[in-house]
Amino acid sequence: MERIYLDYNASAPLLPEAWEAMAQILQPETAYNASSTHHFGRIGQKAINDARLKVANLVGATPNQVIFNSGATEGNNTILNHFSKSYPDDTILISAIEHPSISYALNHLNNVKTIPVDKHGVIRVDALEELLQNNKVSLVSCMFANNETGAIQNVSDISELAHKHGSLFHCDAAQAAGRIPIDIKDKSIDFLTISSHKIGGPQGVGALIIGICGQSPALIFGGGQEKYLRAGTQNVAGITAFGAASEYTLKNTSKYKKLEQLRDKLEHKLKEISHDIIIHSEEAQRLPNTSLFSAKGINAQSALMALDLEGIAASGGSACSSGSINPSDTLKAMGLNEEIASSALRVSMGWATKDSDLDAFLCAWEKLYSRIK
Ligand code: PLP
Repeated sequence: MERIYLDYNASAPLLPEAWEAMAQILQPETAYNASSTHHFGRIGQKAINDARLKVANLVGATPNQVIFNSGATEGNNTILNHFSKSYPDDTILISAIEHPSISYALNHLNNVKTIPVDKHGVIRVDALEELLQNNKVSLVSCMFANNETGAIQNVSDISELAHKHGSLFHCDAAQAAGRIPIDIKDKSIDFLTISSHKIGGPQGVGALIIGICGQSPALIFGGGQEKYLRAGTQNVAGITAFGAASEYTLKNTSKYKKLEQLRDKLEHKLKEISHDIIIHSEEAQRLPNTSLFSAKGINAQSALMALDLEGIAASGGSACSSGSINPSDTLKAMGLNEEIASSALRVSMGWATKDSDLDAFLCAWEKLYSRIK
């Protein structure tokens, strides 16, 4: 059976360019520890320096702003823990639709409050302003684009407001980087989180990009790697491949634009097949590759199993690490009820998605929908 992959927001398939870059480093009988001063160490160090420039270019940063780490979860935890520890009496504001690697802070750190979103899944800048007026806030943390709905946030306005009130601004761009243009300077972002596996690099590698705010957040201590901000022997192969994926992505931004046409066609056909369908955040600005929708009577877990039997890999609103699907917190924050929040399916596309993949999805969806109606 042909397998069709429509779950890029979970992990994008590895780009051939990233695999080749990794294979240059991960060869039998070689060891490239970038901290060593000998010949092999220098090869590792050069590979990391080259990758640092490519990753920096992806987000309009300079190489010295890039701190490599294990991914967006680590980047997000690093920032929140740093601010919680450094400014224990101040408030941290996060939006109501953040990834669990940010929202864990509500249960684990002190003085964390949420900024509500509107019914389109867009962070309410008016509510943020009120919270900033009524609290002494050290950090505002809001994502660039939502992993479930794809809704793009008003990052410039959020950053401007945070700075106006003397707070710093962190932005989780794990889903946005490489899918829409990002410039850390242009948006005045103080800390930016990105992840390799969302753009076709390997899993387990990412970066925290540090702006010009003068803060030095660190979570893991030990050796002096990454300017003492992230101890531990560097993942030379993973970082090199992350660099290759960043370079490919930047050169191929037009491919992401084309995905918007595919997504619009998908949603048009979905509406033709199923008149009660709700396309979430349809009226918001969205990532070109993401569509999240619900229809009455659809249970996301059973629908995904049925799609899988047809060879199609899609996702529910929020994939849980245990493999089960919980009602989406993002949809609940948008004011939708439990039934709709439990029925959401997500199609997310990327560098290898073809027209025919969506045709196959629609064919399977039509079968599934007609069984339920
Ligand atoms: N932030 C967002 C918005 C995400 O979508 C994800 C992954 O799904 C993460 C953070 C975590 O990324 P990583 O897998 O690199 O830890």
